[in-house]
Amino acid sequence: MAEKEQTNRTNIRVRFAPSPTGAFHLGSARAALFNYLFAKRYGGKFILRIEDTDAERSKKEWEENIFESMKWLGMEWDEGPNLNFEKDGKKYIGDYGPYRQSERKEIYARYLKQLIKEEKAYYCFCSKEELESYKQYAMSQGLPPVYPNKCRDLDPKEVQKKLEEKKPFLIRFKCPKGKKIIVKDAVRGEIEFDSSLLGDFSLSKGFEFPLYNFVCAVDDYEMNITDIVRGEDHIPNTPKQILIQEALGFPKIQYAHLPLVLGQARQKLSKREGALPISDYKDQGYLPEALINFIVFLGWNPGNEKEIFSLESLAKEFSIEKVQKSGAIFNPQKLEWLNGFYIRKKTLKELARLCVPYLEERGLIKRNEKMIRPKDELLPETSYLVTETKENIFDDYLEKAVSLYQERIKKLSEIGDLVDFLFVKDLDYPAEMLKWKKMASNQELEDSLNKCLKLLSSIEEKSFNKEILEKLLLREAEEMPDRGYLLWPLRVALTGKQASAGPIDIAAVLGKEKTVQRIKEAIEKARSIVQ
Ligand code: GLU
Repeated sequence: MAEKEQTNRTNIRVRFAPSPTGAFHLGSARAALFNYLFAKRYGGKFILRIEDTDAERSKKEWEENIFESMKWLGMEWDEGPNLNFEKDGKKYIGDYGPYRQSERKEIYARYLKQLIKEEKAYYCFCSKEELESYKQYAMSQGLPPVYPNKCRDLDPKEVQKKLEEKKPFLIRFKCPKGKKIIVKDAVRGEIEFDSSLLGDFSLSKGFEFPLYNFVCAVDDYEMNITDIVRGEDHIPNTPKQILIQEALGFPKIQYAHLPLVLGQARQKLSKREGALPISDYKDQGYLPEALINFIVFLGWNPGNEKEIFSLESLAKEFSIEKVQKSGAIFNPQKLEWLNGFYIRKKTLKELARLCVPYLEERGLIKRNEKMIRPKDELLPETSYLVTETKENIFDDYLEKAVSLYQERIKKLSEIGDLVDFLFVKDLDYPAEMLKWKKMASNQELEDSLNKCLKLLSSIEEKSFNKEILEKLLLREAEEMPDRGYLLWPLRVALTGKQASAGPIDIAAVLGKEKTVQRIKEAIEKARSIVQ
């Protein structure tokens, strides 16, 4: 499809059609995103259809997971199941509902009856065992495992009799022999199939349990779908769906099959390599902006060096012509990099808010309806109250805490281990840790800590800020053989850690009272070191 042709098209309607048989994972998100962008780019409609014909494997919890993940990623559907179920007596938004296949069984039965009446489909009464043995035989002969058409020409009287006896049946499609089926694919060009290799495939188990290819073809027509954008793994289904469409006199649909997503060694992507449910990425502290930006490159690129794309900018720049044929490589480092980028772009207020669940999970803060505060009674109440008023104003302390690590974190979940010392009352670390590696004696350590104490105690509460601290402490540190003599013990005293943000920044966040108290505690500890 040429770019021009696309933009001239009107009334584009695309659908994302997940089966709720598992969590909404990265691959589903990619299919959803490309459909979403295709619709937005050309002013069309994005439809969500729940393909839950497999009643045993379909679960409400997975459906919820799909809804929540799509909403979280920002891909709202124009038509589909309604999240506020039963609003105005309707369970869906849009004029083509219901959008759950389990609620559309009458429609399917109607078309099945039509196909049988027009002799384009037939009843097959073969037992499971018989079907299995045909399959085994065909395979042993190196032939495609197609049904040998045993029931294709059954005498109508015999059919009637078996139906009256309530014998279970499949409804099979009368597949034409030796017909060339040509799929015009926007990504892959023309793909040719030989209908003989398909055999008389089944459309439904009885009338109650219609199968994927059939319901898909019916719904794509009934929902007025103009373009099908889905993974390459569906290519073998496409000729079957085209034959069903033709048999029912439906108009043609345009196809675009997206390339497979592969691991770094170009093998099929596994969970271990990072292809996770979107809800897992969310829990790990990935941002939706980063995931969208990452996922769109799994098969698409803008044709230039630009790497950063928001959902809004993609809605303007995305085009199906730039979707590649070859497999898309999943690179988890790229995702981390993008996530770090988007974390750095957040305002402190936004970042603090995003970090709250992780700090809470880590037991560092507690929350009630109005307020979020450290678990320990660490500071005077007013200095750490984090209030969630109507305007959602977050208090300084939390913002300052996350500001220490905004440049470093790649995932929000990393924050807890980094800032824990700012939220607990007592630090637990071995006294030895206080000693700078070049210090020869405990006296040197005590002297250093005492210097810090004296200096910091002399600063007035209201001037206890980064600029003043930097000026005084660095001047003092320059007097020493190296800065570590002063700053190392200070770091450990304030954090209980060997690695942290700069001790001066940390002192400024902790405030005078707590800083001084921690240095005093460190002096006590230093005295306990046996020489
Ligand atoms: N329910 C199918 C799936 O989840 C949809 C395939 C399609 O888009 O036609 O893979």
